[in-house]
Amino acid sequence: MSLPTLTENLAARAADRTEAIALTDPDETVDYGTLWTRAHRVAGALTSAGVTDGDRIAHLAPDSRHFYELLYGAALIGAVVVPISPRLSADEARYIVTHSGSRLAVTDRADILEGPIEIVQANRFAQWRDAADATSARLAEVDADTAVVQLYTSGTTGLPKGVVLAHRSFSAIRALLDRSGLDWIDFRTDDVSLTCMSVSHIGGLWWATQGLSAGVNIIVLPTFAPEAARRAIADRRVTITCVAPAMLMQLLEDDPELGEYATLRKVVYGGSPIGANLLTRAMDVTGADLVQIYGLTETGNTAVCLPPAAHRLADPPLHAAGHPYPGVGLSIRNACGDEVPTGATGEVFLRSPARMLGYFHNPEATTKTLSADGWVATGDAGYINDDGLLVIHDRVKDLIIVGGENVYPAEVEKAIGAHPDIRDCAVIGVPDDRWGESVHAFMVPRPGSDVTVGAVARSLRGSLAAYKAPASYEFVNEIPRNPAGKPLRRSLREPFWSAFHRSVN
Ligand code: ATP
Repeated sequence: MSLPTLTENLAARAADRTEAIALTDPDETVDYGTLWTRAHRVAGALTSAGVTDGDRIAHLAPDSRHFYELLYGAALIGAVVVPISPRLSADEARYIVTHSGSRLAVTDRADILEGPIEIVQANRFAQWRDAADATSARLAEVDADTAVVQLYTSGTTGLPKGVVLAHRSFSAIRALLDRSGLDWIDFRTDDVSLTCMSVSHIGGLWWATQGLSAGVNIIVLPTFAPEAARRAIADRRVTITCVAPAMLMQLLEDDPELGEYATLRKVVYGGSPIGANLLTRAMDVTGADLVQIYGLTETGNTAVCLPPAAHRLADPPLHAAGHPYPGVGLSIRNACGDEVPTGATGEVFLRSPARMLGYFHNPEATTKTLSADGWVATGDAGYINDDGLLVIHDRVKDLIIVGGENVYPAEVEKAIGAHPDIRDCAVIGVPDDRWGESVHAFMVPRPGSDVTVGAVARSLRGSLAAYKAPASYEFVNEIPRNPAGKPLRRSLREPFWSAFHRSVN
């Protein structure tokens, strides 16, 4: 299947929707014609700075229209953009810039970078771009298999790895949907699309580029804040958006006013497990069509989808992640690599035409995750139910083993989260003399509630097997989460396990 590149898609929209608004950030609106012209100027500026095809360029700054000008400008000369979350610490960000060998960085944190790297100050980006001669750009021959971005996994499972994605990662799923006539994730030209997730995460980058390829107006938030997102939805009359469950939870807090989200016609969500309560509330409050997506940076984002119609069933399968897109392979395998029967739990494997090219400078990890015939080992545990839907338990690595029984944190979190007085929660495995590990729950109560541990524990009795119920609980003010809304279980586990290791050594 021949797939378009990001730049071919933008060129087409610059031609047929020249004056339509492409990007709206707090400072400016940019139409498709201007975005295309600016991308060529950026390509000229990058060429003048000595950047050439295959080079890496870091973007370490809040999201803005300039990020997209950089992305498309770099793509024109075959360079690869490395988007870095501005929320990372100095050490974390420096690690990515150094590991990627970036030649140039657009940043507002130049002071933390070191080594031979050309700096473009984020607040001088427009001047840098406009000083360039677009005709000096050394345009590259690119196709769907050319690398275009390198995204670092958030490191919830170890040191961050640089996932190299080609243009096809941003067009393959669209092509599968178009070919099969499914409008699960459709765009209409009058859509206004809000990008809630950061472009340093596959969810945000994929979502924004889908909208730009379709020619719609993208609303860019410098960073996700519930108040700013709520205001953007109301003021800009947003019709379609993509959110992580933790963002959805924040958007639905503080009792949205009646009709506040009335302009929304579609809400796409994914990136971490979601509780049925939150989903039901999202459907009631927004009245929008809901679409769940499941996938990884390594699979080029979504490979599996729970379409709107499934959410509207009398008994909606809200615990499931959905079906693979037509043309995507799904297989559940045991530790020996053999496929397990329907209903049995194993590791989820996916084969998607949007999959990564590999991990940057890490052939060993690439071979472990991506097989020669294109299957990606997701590291997630799950099963296929009788209706052919994929149900995700959780990360294999987050599995808690209580006296030989498997407990997936997400299942326990969903049960605790169903308590009306619990706003947020996360569970981990902690050392236990008798059972090896036991379940420990962190809980954030709803403001004003006087919920007790005993009340939560009692509420779990009907819904969880006794060995899955937490053996210990604590109330906290907040659950630490990464920019994509995933609980940072590694940092929650750390104090318990380091104390345990100290005690046994
Ligand atoms: P790391 O691999 O270092 O943890 P990461 O969390 O940034 O990095 P991503 O590629 O962003 O990795 O996230 C992919 C993971 O998110 C999946 O493997 C799965 O665990 C989780 N996930 C994504 N969508 C869903 C979903 N719809 N339901 C449940 N889990 C999901």
